[in-house]
Amino acid sequence: MSALVWLVLATAPAPLPPPPPQIVVIATPRGETSVPVSTERGTGAVAVPRLGPALGLTVALDGSRVTVGLSGVVFVFQLGAPFVRAGGVVYGLVGEPYVARDTVFLPLHWLADCVPRALGGRYRWDPASGGDAGRLVELPVASPVAAVAPPGVASAPPSASTPGPAFAPNPITGLRLRHTVVIDPGHGGIDPGNPGRYFPSHLAEKDITLAIGRLLRAELVRRAIGASLTRSADTLIDLTDRGAVCKADCDLFVSIHVNAMPEGRRADRVSGVETYFLSDAKTEDQQRVAQMENEAIRFETGTSSAATGPLGFILRDLQLNEYLRESAQLAQLVQDSAARIHPGGDRGVQQAGFMVLTTARRPAILVETGFATNRTDGAFLVSSLGQHKIASAIAAGIVAYLLEFERKLAIAAPARGR
Ligand SMILES: [Zn+2]
Repeated sequence: MSALVWLVLATAPAPLPPPPPQIVVIATPRGETSVPVSTERGTGAVAVPRLGPALGLTVALDGSRVTVGLSGVVFVFQLGAPFVRAGGVVYGLVGEPYVARDTVFLPLHWLADCVPRALGGRYRWDPASGGDAGRLVELPVASPVAAVAPPGVASAPPSASTPGPAFAPNPITGLRLRHTVVIDPGHGGIDPGNPGRYFPSHLAEKDITLAIGRLLRAELVRRAIGASLTRSADTLIDLTDRGAVCKADCDLFVSIHVNAMPEGRRADRVSGVETYFLSDAKTEDQQRVAQMENEAIRFETGTSSAATGPLGFILRDLQLNEYLRESAQLAQLVQDSAARIHPGGDRGVQQAGFMVLTTARRPAILVETGFATNRTDGAFLVSSLGQHKIASAIAAGIVAYLLEFERKLAIAAPARGR
């Protein structure tokens, strides 16, 4: 690792708005350093030799593999590939690592997004505002503040904000890190979702998903997990924009839906809960569900940000890698939890190409909370008790996944604060 200062020129104009900041300020307890951002490849990139002295990171280039160590966490990149692996988790990147003039450049997105996430609150990213510098702020280790205000037990009000870096396990969940979940209540506005044969006449799928989504947010906040909704009212959000809500501060994406069978002899008999994660749809029934949920595109304006087939993009570039395994594991844990309380039975984990899931560069699942075409499921889903039960069960599954996620992080970085 060199202590030399390398200057990197910002030359070609960035084709994508908004342009990345031209400078990143790295603020640590040891002082501040400004690092120029190169935009020669369109998206912002930072030269590793410039980061080394500021962040104390180490780097090794082996063929096309770049290994970067930072604060005990190892990040593994492949040159030209828009993702990075850290602690058994694959993060999608905007931009790709590359070598120019004997220098490794890493996407700015890694610094702004993955480092704060992978290092569990040790760093905070403040995006450029007003001026042209984004700031990566290293937070003090083992801050005494964390010990002053541990997340309360059941007494924590639902409006409590997410705690900062927590190094002692949360008394309810056992989680040590801050996590944020984006909840996506399916459909909304002029897209009612399925009409709900066994719902009262004034209710459709969009109303049930919003009710469950709100309750899930409250259940997560009660467990000291940050949560936000893609919609909090009866509005329509483009499918391709829903996943994009899951950005820097988001660990997981959970979409909530209600299933329906087509008219026919079997329609009333089918019941139960199932959880999907992204992949190509494998069976006719899975394709039916994916097609039904993707139908919301009919209602959309066609101006959303990713009209060029996000599924193809993700599958091509991320392939069926650990990112999908994480989604599959999340799906399994949520499904196990939900099936325990569901009157309609356990339909298991499914795979399908849901467009809403493909734009979220995080472990992402879609829960079909039951069948509106089944009398028992329908009554369960419109009841307050049923909605509370399903929301609580999904929250419990998410906690189980996050505990597993933290365990893997700890194994990958044993030297980190515990
Ligand atoms: Zn739906």
